Amino acid sequence: MDTKAIQHASQLIRQADALIIAAGAGMSVDSGLPDFRGSRGLWTTLLHEDMHERDLHAWTQGRCFEADPTQAWRFYGEALRVCEKAVPHAGHGLLLDWARRKPHGAFVYTSNVDGHFEAAGFAPERIVECHGSIRHFQCARPCSPHIWPAMPMSDAPLLPRCRRCGALARPNFLLFSDPAWVVARTNAQRLRMETWRAGPRNPVVIEIGAGLALPGVRMFAQSLRLPLIRVNDDAAEIHGAATVALHGRALDVLQDIDQELARVHAQ
Ligand SMILES: [Zn+2]
Repeated sequence: MDTKAIQHASQLIRQADALIIAAGAGMSVDSGLPDFRGSRGLWTTLLHEDMHERDLHAWTQGRCFEADPTQAWRFYGEALRVCEKAVPHAGHGLLLDWARRKPHGAFVYTSNVDGHFEAAGFAPERIVECHGSIRHFQCARPCSPHIWPAMPMSDAPLLPRCRRCGALARPNFLLFSDPAWVVARTNAQRLRMETWRAGPRNPVVIEIGAGLALPGVRMFAQSLRLPLIRVNDDAAEIHGAATVALHGRALDVLQDIDQELARVHAQ
């Protein structure tokens, strides 16, 4: 690990009065969830024996619930079971520790739909899930912007139903070409973030595992025009507009920064 860069990152975090955590798929890899770079890696592992990789395109399109509800729910039921088993890793806890020492705490902006920041102890009103959440369901039609907590997959019927109109239900996360995605919850989260951002005078952005294949998180982090710490395990993707670039897996790098913070604190 690049000691100078770790020291620089630690210094930026110490000087900040708030953290803005921008997390992509690489943050969840250490929780045992496969990275879904380009939408392929994660989904490939979720295919049933009689489903083919060439069909993946169909199962990641918004219209899949309309086109073939049974197969779509076999696929996403498995995705939910995988996410239910995965738990946040120690890196989420380290970020929470750092945030608790800041006068304005932290705000999280993540494309991860697994709900791990909330599970790790971050307040739900301090999180934007820009692609929605696998822990919530919506009407597939949708008949209304109503969203409700997902039931455990062990208790779920094969085809979950909308609580309001009885049509098919689906997870409230964004697929490709997906006009039926109910964006209301994510929009409310974005509004809360904008309100919060008026407070901190000197925030630092920590961007973690945000790739170029689905660049939304990365574009968000850069658009803030604040000191930016980038953590990425892809050598080709580490470069760009970061103040400090740290090449490595999320958990490893966060632990290195935490050790440096503790070392300086002890002096
Ligand atoms: Zn409905």
